[in-house]
Amino acid sequence: MNSPQEARWKEALAPLRAAGLWRELQPLQPEGDGGIRLRDAQGHALLSFASNDYLGLAGHPALRVAAGAEMMLSGVGAGAAPLLGGERPVHAALAAALAQWLGVEAVLLFGSGYLANLGIFAALVGRSDGVFADRLNHASLVDGARLAGARLQRYRHGDLNHLETLLQRHGGGRRWIISDGVFSMDGDIAPLADLVRLAERHDATIMLDEAHAFGVIGAGGRGSAAHWQLEPARVGVRMGTLGKAFGVYGAFVAGSQTLIDLLRHRARSFVYHTAFPPMLAAAALAALGLVQGEEWRRERLRSHVRRLRGAATPGSWIASDTPIQPLLVGEAGHSLALSRALREQGLYVPAVRPPTVPMGAARLRITLSAAHGPEDVDRLRLALEQCR
Ligand SMILES: *Cc1c(COP(=O)(O)O)cnc(C)c1O
Repeated sequence: MNSPQEARWKEALAPLRAAGLWRELQPLQPEGDGGIRLRDAQGHALLSFASNDYLGLAGHPALRVAAGAEMMLSGVGAGAAPLLGGERPVHAALAAALAQWLGVEAVLLFGSGYLANLGIFAALVGRSDGVFADRLNHASLVDGARLAGARLQRYRHGDLNHLETLLQRHGGGRRWIISDGVFSMDGDIAPLADLVRLAERHDATIMLDEAHAFGVIGAGGRGSAAHWQLEPARVGVRMGTLGKAFGVYGAFVAGSQTLIDLLRHRARSFVYHTAFPPMLAAAALAALGLVQGEEWRRERLRSHVRRLRGAATPGSWIASDTPIQPLLVGEAGHSLALSRALREQGLYVPAVRPPTVPMGAARLRITLSAAHGPEDVDRLRLALEQCR
């Protein structure tokens, strides 16, 4: 293809290749139940430290059985938007169980976290509102704020003095404080207790993205509010995903009945999306049982974190107590070389490069799973020490 359009697209791609930022999709086949043993297209076995399936639930027999049974009952796809006949009893059961787990009045299911974040902003945030966002928030939160046409002001990561200065300056409409509960690329926990105090002092509403927190931190896996021992109602809006610690797919917003009523009417990414497959709602319901009931999975993760961080490495650990353990390397090319060296030893640890992380902050994003054994963590430790 040599059309002028093709030439322009090639031109856009050329600098990415040159800067070591080229990306390819690589199909990897999981083997067994834990989701950490993969086989690549060439048949090589890989031990993965790349998954957000922190509790090791994606391949769990209980989820497979629940999904299979629901599929036999309801078919595969929901076939319609939730408000136009796509809502199934299992969706309602999942929403009710999530609400009860989190101690909130109501929950609304979305097709994905990305859709949920776009919908929340479009539904709740007005053009004259001030949106105050941590600089390391997930891309979907940034896109949501832009879509809502709100004035987006980003504060330095975790810098509450900076946030307070911005809050004081704001003269327009309502104030929103937006943060990841656990930051997706750095793995650190947002200082929610302080954010809540600031929000209450400046009449702001908190919107918290719990994609990496629900299931992982707090008593019973109830996320950041539980971790900081805060009343759930003090965090106005919480978004959680079902594709990470729950091992499935989809997302939800948790809060008051009024919030959920409003989102059901106004969140366009809810109103105009096809309800997610009922078999996935059944799998998520099974996952919730394990998230609540099997505390050993979180204990095991904590012990893996301690074990890994003893390693002498070719980079520097970013401070994190969660299963996201980023090893800062700096140069994109260097992170890629390191990732390749590990891969030759049968370890899959992807390099995360700009634009996902800031320039000069390329890293290995190591994620731990309850499906790993201590011997798996030791294998990675040893390999990292050898790469020094
Ligand atoms: C993964 C992620 C999302 C998007 O969720 P999906 O269900 O994958 O669309 C949103 N926010 C954060 C912080 C995430 O890590």
